[in-house]
Amino acid sequence: MEQWLIQNQVWCRILIFLCVFSMLAAWETFYAWRPWLIARKTRWMRHLSLTCLSKIILRVLFPVFLITVAVRVEQKGMGLLSHFPYAAQVIFGFIAMDLIMYMQHRLFHKYQWLWRIHRVHHMDRQIDVSTGVRFHPLEEIISMGVKMLGVAFVGVPALAVFFFEVILNAMTMFVHVNVCLPRRVERLLRKVIITPGMHRIHHSDYSPETNSNYGFCFSWWDKMFDSYTLVSTAGERKFTMGLEDYQDPKYQTLENMLLVPFNIKRLKVRYKKPLKTKFKLFEEITQPKKR
Ligand SMILES: [Zn+2]
Repeated sequence: MEQWLIQNQVWCRILIFLCVFSMLAAWETFYAWRPWLIARKTRWMRHLSLTCLSKIILRVLFPVFLITVAVRVEQKGMGLLSHFPYAAQVIFGFIAMDLIMYMQHRLFHKYQWLWRIHRVHHMDRQIDVSTGVRFHPLEEIISMGVKMLGVAFVGVPALAVFFFEVILNAMTMFVHVNVCLPRRVERLLRKVIITPGMHRIHHSDYSPETNSNYGFCFSWWDKMFDSYTLVSTAGERKFTMGLEDYQDPKYQTLENMLLVPFNIKRLKVRYKKPLKTKFKLFEEITQPKKR
């Protein structure tokens, strides 16, 4: 099975990506939550070009796939989970990888040099399925390095790595979809997974909201580590997306997306620390924060 996955994972992942992207794009076509500020075709071209460039750079810089690292780790019996039964390795390996991604996302917001790179994702003035692939190549390189270290340290089996990569990719597109779920469904799903309604608060231009709701798959990390925002203070339909200093459409071109991390002049203007510092366990914020 693992051998088959290694040999066919690229085509499997491309096929799943195309299916998920098409389904979510079709959903947005019929139930769009906000009108598009830039034509979808233009957005797709830019965002897909950015992700294609990242994948090419990753292939050049990393001679092995993440799944190959997992197979080597498994063969050598390395990692924290190596003595657990296989089923436990797969389940806990998957959960551990999601926690690692949550922590990585927090660090991308915490440190200025990382924020410079990650802000390319946040500069989008609205979100749709294509925002899910809008990441600077430097962010993809750092993320791959973190994932490889995580797989080796935790000892995540190849099967869990494959499922995690596929599900993380699908979830990243799902949470950016330009659709508003019915309130009941939203509330129910949020108990376990990240929803579009929860993640779009993370794209608010209001700093304390930008610095919250970091999760990708499971919603419990934000609740556990006190970074959960239930609702936007400006109201679900009214809040502004993107970054205050990057509302000009010129920042949305492929060229400027690639150059923004190196724009040192604007760095100090944007970064603001999150307001909350207290550690609360599974406690929901029921009152909106004051602006
Ligand atoms: Zn972010």
